[in-house]
Amino acid sequence: MSFSTAPSSAPSPAAVLPGGRSDLVIVGAGIVGLAHAFEAARRGLTVTVVERDWQPVGASVRNFGHCCITAQRDDLLELAYRSRAGWLEAAKSSGLWAREAGALVVARSATELAVLEELREERGADTVQLRTREEVAGTLGRDADGGDIVGGAFLPDDLRVNPREAAPDLAAWLSIQPGVTVVWGTNVTGVEEGTVHTSRGPVHGDRILVCVGHDLDRLYPTAADEHGIERCRLTMARVTAPDAFRTDAAILTATSMLRYDAFTATPAATRLREEVTGHSPELLDVVANVMFTRLPDGTVLVGDSHFYGRTETPFVDEPTSRLLLAATADVLGAGELHVTERWQGVYASSARGPLLVRDMAPGVRAISVTSGIGMTLSFGLAAATFDESLAATA
Ligand SMILES: Cc1cc2nc3c(=O)[nH]c(=O)nc-3n(C[C@H](O)[C@H](O)[C@H](O)COP(=O)(O)OP(=O)(O)OC[C@H]3O[C@@H](n4cnc5c(N)ncnc54)[C@H](O)[C@@H]3O)c2cc1C
Repeated sequence: MSFSTAPSSAPSPAAVLPGGRSDLVIVGAGIVGLAHAFEAARRGLTVTVVERDWQPVGASVRNFGHCCITAQRDDLLELAYRSRAGWLEAAKSSGLWAREAGALVVARSATELAVLEELREERGADTVQLRTREEVAGTLGRDADGGDIVGGAFLPDDLRVNPREAAPDLAAWLSIQPGVTVVWGTNVTGVEEGTVHTSRGPVHGDRILVCVGHDLDRLYPTAADEHGIERCRLTMARVTAPDAFRTDAAILTATSMLRYDAFTATPAATRLREEVTGHSPELLDVVANVMFTRLPDGTVLVGDSHFYGRTETPFVDEPTSRLLLAATADVLGAGELHVTERWQGVYASSARGPLLVRDMAPGVRAISVTSGIGMTLSFGLAAATFDESLAATA
């Protein structure tokens, strides 16, 4: 599978810096920065994106590519639906791979099914579509009896994108749009009103957005401290898929139902936590969310665990990796999965809330998603940012 890189047509950093000026300067070419660049370009603004690396390698390429719409609640649900529309628009414009493939939540006990039934009661039968045991087994490509599967729910509004290519492809497309420049290999060292200071000199913008994800503490340590930002490390692997597993839907399991707000708000979720604590305490010990997604080349992304700390230690814990792989094989009814890659994902996390959106100076705003839902929310956040600035200038 290809791993998209910065386009050869991208200008050399020296051609743009120092001293360039645009309506908007964005720091960070992860999905949050690029979604904002996409929205800005749509609105006819000139944009410069400054990225320290030579291609996106942050959280945005290390995840499942699951836009987890339905499992959000309240304001985040609204933002997620907005984001869904933005993703589809970006896919239409840029050609990036996005599928309205939904998500399948597999239930393997009456309690798991109860969570899904309660969510269906709240959201309606079109948004949370219950599935029989045979239907779930069929989607997973398992034997018709489906082992211990009792049923499940299909969430048709969830989206799938390819995390290896979405941000790189969007960056490549943006960099050939009129008025948009993406500058790679350029570290931002400080930001003040109207000016972004970089390792290659200053660049100027009427407005500046700092979209550096978990590295916010490098530029704004006080804001990061005040929001309690930590780095969450996740164990991930890519495996060769069993032949019969063909769906593009994201596959979620009981531990996913213990993580996402829409599930945890159901009355049955308390029982579910007790049940999982009883039969799989080892999954809770590593704060697992056993889920997986298939990439367009047929391989499957498998994860994940969650370890929290201020610093991301580089070590991938092999027992944790094996635990997640075994749990995935169990859901698929497969033997041992053949691993082709392992990596550690890192994202910004905070117990104080899932978003940091904060004005740091006149015309300078920091935007970090401080929960594992930045792919889901990125385009919604961008739309909200520009609505607000239009309202401010009206
Ligand atoms: C394993 C894993 C699984 C996940 N699964 C999902 C999922 O299924 N669904 C979902 O919605 N979300 C998921 N997430 C979360 C999601 O990936 C993140 O929330 C999102 O990608 C954050 O995007 P970002 O642009 O803020 O950060 P990043 O992608 O990390 O981008 C930040 C960019 O800023 C650049 N940068 C930093 N400092 C500087 C500087 N000083 N100068 C210049 N550039 C700088 C970095 O190099 C980087 O390219 C997952 C995350 C991980 C790690």
